[in-house]
Amino acid sequence: MYDVIIIGAGPAGLSAGLYAGRDKLSTLIIEKAKDGGQIVITAEIENYPGSILEESGPTLINRMSAQATKFGVEKVIDTVVDMELEGKIKIIRCKKETYEAKTVIIAAGASPVLIGCPGEKELTGKGVSYCATCDAAFFEDFEVYVVGGGDSAVEEAIYLTKFARKVTLIHRRNELRAAKSIQEKAFRNPKVNFMWDTVVRELRGDGILESMVVENVKTGERLEIVADENDGTFGVFVFIGFKPASDIFQGKIDMQDGYIITDDNMNTNIKGVFAAGDIRVKSLRQVITAAADGAIAAVQAGRYIEDNDYSFTNLLVGGGLENDTM
Ligand code: NAP
Repeated sequence: MYDVIIIGAGPAGLSAGLYAGRDKLSTLIIEKAKDGGQIVITAEIENYPGSILEESGPTLINRMSAQATKFGVEKVIDTVVDMELEGKIKIIRCKKETYEAKTVIIAAGASPVLIGCPGEKELTGKGVSYCATCDAAFFEDFEVYVVGGGDSAVEEAIYLTKFARKVTLIHRRNELRAAKSIQEKAFRNPKVNFMWDTVVRELRGDGILESMVVENVKTGERLEIVADENDGTFGVFVFIGFKPASDIFQGKIDMQDGYIITDDNMNTNIKGVFAAGDIRVKSLRQVITAAADGAIAAVQAGRYIEDNDYSFTNLLVGGGLENDTM
């Protein structure tokens, strides 16, 4: 039995691993694919303190991963399929194995909804972005397009006007979904333009975004938008929804709109179960906030273990099976 099982090896999970490992807690990180989560599709990171020189998502995550391993954290590649979280001993069932721990830190992350058009994956981080806070500065004085019509798209379009010389919001209807107050701000901003009833059909470019094919859904007319000759590229920021990786926790843990609810100490409603990073309800989803969440969750997991009696006799008299909600 581990002291801590961490689900997810993004910045939140790896930071939790680092803190748990340094605290001499036996720790297992379960990751379904590659370490890093969303950050591995980020070409350049300049908003994580200390990342000044040529820091990319993969370089930062490789160092985070090595640092956690250095402190004895074990890692497995496996997919969580089911779990029992309420008892004193938490059981995590994966495709390959079943694992047990005294505490669980859920750091499974979230991911943006993709347009799903040709060229999108290849050009992500090369003109196509899902995070204005992360990437706006790379488009200083360039043209950018924002896809979507909800609060995120409209707010981020307004934010992007601080950097880009022109921002065009592409929305599939002729009316925004965003709150009226946010819409009004966008309509008042002379740098924000609108392309209504339009969807993106293809993103094109050889190593960098050079053009985009859009289609008017009412007329079926297609148009290729080509980068300004002097710029050579432009930005496409996609905000058509964000999805937390929380499906497997549905019904087992308290959530709001699919995000796990925690307190400031990353406690969920179930004792000994913590959540960290993008999967939890929070106001800013960034590497720095994910790392902070992970550190807090690991320290709290350590305190929870100290405060609870995991002696064999205690578990034998029923402690391992009790209903352990907050
Ligand atoms: P959202 O409200 O679900 O809006 C998604 C937008 O993307 C909609 O306009 C939708 O179009 C469009 N869309 C969806 N799928 C698409 C596709 N395949 N192709 C093209 N367009 C597509 O998502 P969100 O803006 O990320 O907001 C999520 C939640 O966070 C919302 O509850 C929102 O209120 C909240 N939020 C609040 C604030 C704030 O209060 N300041 C800021 C950000 C987010 P349709 O309109 O046609 O469906």
